[in-house]
Amino acid sequence: MSYTYTKDSKLHCVLCPHHCTLEDGERGICMVRENRQGELHLPFYGVLSAVSNDPIEKKPLYHFYPGSFIFSVGFYGCSFRCPFCQNYRIAQSTNVVDTHSTQPRELVDQALRQGAQAIAYTYSEPLVHFEWMLETAKYARSRGLKNILVSNGYVNPQPAGELLEVLDAANIDLKSFRSEFYQDIVGGRLEPILAFIKKASQKIHLEVTTLIIPGYTDSEQEITDIARFLAELNEDIPLHLSCYYPAFKFDAPPTEASTVFALAETAKQYLNFVYPGNVGLSEVNTYCSACGNTLIRRTGYRVEMPGIKGQSCAKCGQTVPFPVKEMDNFRSPNS
Ligand code: SF4
Repeated sequence: MSYTYTKDSKLHCVLCPHHCTLEDGERGICMVRENRQGELHLPFYGVLSAVSNDPIEKKPLYHFYPGSFIFSVGFYGCSFRCPFCQNYRIAQSTNVVDTHSTQPRELVDQALRQGAQAIAYTYSEPLVHFEWMLETAKYARSRGLKNILVSNGYVNPQPAGELLEVLDAANIDLKSFRSEFYQDIVGGRLEPILAFIKKASQKIHLEVTTLIIPGYTDSEQEITDIARFLAELNEDIPLHLSCYYPAFKFDAPPTEASTVFALAETAKQYLNFVYPGNVGLSEVNTYCSACGNTLIRRTGYRVEMPGIKGQSCAKCGQTVPFPVKEMDNFRSPNS
């Protein structure tokens, strides 16, 4: 298997920055990669926790073929231990009843039969299933499908480079801009994620999500740092500021919607597109960064584009900085 080597009877996994060293029979922090007699064993290869057709806005991806449906697959295990994990039943557990392994070609064929135009690797942490995902993404691309990653971005540069060659879009969680938060709360490091975000912003369509947790990630300075970092890469990168709800080991009350709105205004000082998420808004719109015209109107998962003509703002003519032309090729909930 790629990205591993054995030394004595130990196996060293170099897929993610944890660099687990595994004795025979041991599994890594992610719970899904194992040393079996000196060889890498993947007991959850193709074992899927969910397969579903989702609106792309649910990922969330707001600037990548808005209004389309995406064939989405989920897994088990994760390289992080977030005590506020919203998907902890599949991310923090590998107690799996159905261990059927879906082969990459089988999954792609299923997506094609359902008329999908893209596959999203999502729900739990896809990166720890690198081999399956890479093989599936390569085959999917050969069959004309696009590939979307929804992830914590915790991966080493070499596998990241290989994966980015077959990805088209990603939403990466930037949980905080504080090293201590990653070290003490999540169980990881900040720098590799910033490096992955930087690399992804140069290669594919990228959006970023930050969960606003009261007392942890809700300071103006935190969001200013995140927004500044992204703006230096590209001020058109959409930033989703998502409202925290109690889950797993965290029972603090949900974030006030007013806090999320205020932080969104802070981020807008640096970025052109900032979206509050999970705050119960009936409408979330995208406005032209030049003239303020409403380009896209989202009501729930219903998407309309009253302000886009061709690839430009219908009012001032500024180019819309994300693909809308090919959108017609996708199956839309409005069509
Ligand atoms: S992918 Fe899993 S086994 Fe490999 S280094 Fe990361 S946590 Fe450890």
